Amino acid sequence: MKKTVGIIGAGIGGLMAGAFLAKEGWQVTVYEKAVTVGGSAGTYARKNRRFPTGATIAFGLEDRGLLDTLFQQLDIRISSDVLDHPMDVILEDRTISLYREPSLWKAELVRAFPERSDDVLDFWHELEQLSEAVFGVTATGVSLPIRRMVDLGKLPRHAVSHPGSMVRLARNSLRTVEDLLRVHHLETYEPFRQFLDAQLLDAAQIDCTKAALLPSSLALTIYRRGSFYVDKGIGQLSEALAERIKELGGDVRTASPVEILILEEKKWRIVTKRRSELFDTVINNSGVSFGEGTSHAEAEDFSWGAFRIDALLKETFRHSVLDGRPLPFAAQIVPDKKQTVLYTDGHGPVYVTFQPAYNRKNERIEDELMMTCSIHTQSEQWKSLSQETYLQKKKRVKEAMFEEIQRVFPVQKYISSSEAGTPVTYEKYLGKTEVGGFPLTVRNAILKPKSVHSSLSNFYIVGEQSFPGPGTLSSALSGYHAARAIMKDRK
Ligand SMILES: Cc1cc2nc3c(=O)[nH]c(=O)nc-3n(C[C@H](O)[C@H](O)[C@H](O)COP(=O)(O)OP(=O)(O)OC[C@H]3O[C@@H](n4cnc5c(N)ncnc54)[C@H](O)[C@@H]3O)c2cc1C
Repeated sequence: MKKTVGIIGAGIGGLMAGAFLAKEGWQVTVYEKAVTVGGSAGTYARKNRRFPTGATIAFGLEDRGLLDTLFQQLDIRISSDVLDHPMDVILEDRTISLYREPSLWKAELVRAFPERSDDVLDFWHELEQLSEAVFGVTATGVSLPIRRMVDLGKLPRHAVSHPGSMVRLARNSLRTVEDLLRVHHLETYEPFRQFLDAQLLDAAQIDCTKAALLPSSLALTIYRRGSFYVDKGIGQLSEALAERIKELGGDVRTASPVEILILEEKKWRIVTKRRSELFDTVINNSGVSFGEGTSHAEAEDFSWGAFRIDALLKETFRHSVLDGRPLPFAAQIVPDKKQTVLYTDGHGPVYVTFQPAYNRKNERIEDELMMTCSIHTQSEQWKSLSQETYLQKKKRVKEAMFEEIQRVFPVQKYISSSEAGTPVTYEKYLGKTEVGGFPLTVRNAILKPKSVHSSLSNFYIVGEQSFPGPGTLSSALSGYHAARAIMKDRK
């Protein structure tokens, strides 16, 4: 008889685990609260359009990249475009354009930071060397903390053949990004610091003072490895995984929130409104707790909430306003200091993306552009407000974000519709107010990373809260690590 696994949450981590287990002959059942799969890297439908729920840029899809390798093993083909100019970071006094091509990027560092260009180039050189070492180790499939031999992946062989890189990693393991800034006497060079802070808040959920250097080195340099617009949106990654699970005989049940989880002898019972089923093994990818030890959400660590706006623009915006200036795929706009709302109700840069619009049936709408905007916010601030205060706060943040966007991209008269969502909206649809995982501090990333194993028997925890951390690529890797551990544990 086939071994059975119940997966709670159809985020990219849970689906990746499910697809690998289904491929190995497990009977997989995925339970998803929302009506669509993908979690914060999925889509939702409104006004006959498909909007992203959160994530927009994919990583690891380059040939033999970390995600590409997993999809190849699952015989899944993903159609995507590499982004040559993925992002502009807009500071008060300058704009930094990220480029994939290394020589363009080096020239951009010199252009954007002329006051300290030599030190900035040296800093970047060291960051890239570290990033190479971190990438090499990540590609071995190591899953921290090491609880079983299987978590080592191919690390031992890699360590023997790359002793220099292992020494470099050990030497830098407890350092923060600020420590590296200090080495290059850049810690008080504000423009460069602001640029790093903007990048790190999205990638590591924390600024350079506390961001662990090792994972940050990979996050800050990843655009040279490749960042991608997935054809028809990043939600296609999860949809492809869900399809694969079904092709392999599994079941993906949307609109099926899990309500209760019970350990009965050696099996797990998953209870939803309509069903009650027993499984040999359970994976929790939901990021919410179903009782002690069932989720890393029980840890006291802080995570951010997100405030988002989705808008539709007339495609003419691209041609009429920018005067031939290339429109980056995304922009991070560091708010004007006078914009106090975005320093109290929101936090960090306003993140904007421009992408093609699709309708519910995934057909391209030629004369439309989709603009997604988001900012970090403390989810606690949005809970327990009266309806009136909540709506006022939502309006205030939305207007302040639009003001900042308008300053850089004059979109106002091209907007045909827009809608905002808060941490409360996330809770309604995805069951949690906090999204994006724990900040990658030295403690969270190196000293006490959160395992895919749990203290409960035949119970695993995957997603952005488990090692290696936030983002679609990391969540997907945690799903793969859990599947590999389960196959070994239940042999
Ligand atoms: C605004 C925003 C922008 C982002 N941008 C990017 C980006 O550009 N690139 C990038 O790589 N990453 C980005 N991220 C991060 C990325 O989206 C997440 O880290 C990743 O998608 C998390 O995946 P996950 O597997 O942990 O699951 P999640 O996406 O958290 O999914 C968990 C799933 O569990 C379901 N669930 C909850 N409760 C229950 C229940 N009781 N029963 C059943 N199911 C339940 C939820 O509905 C959800 O579908 C962004 C995140 C946000 C919020």
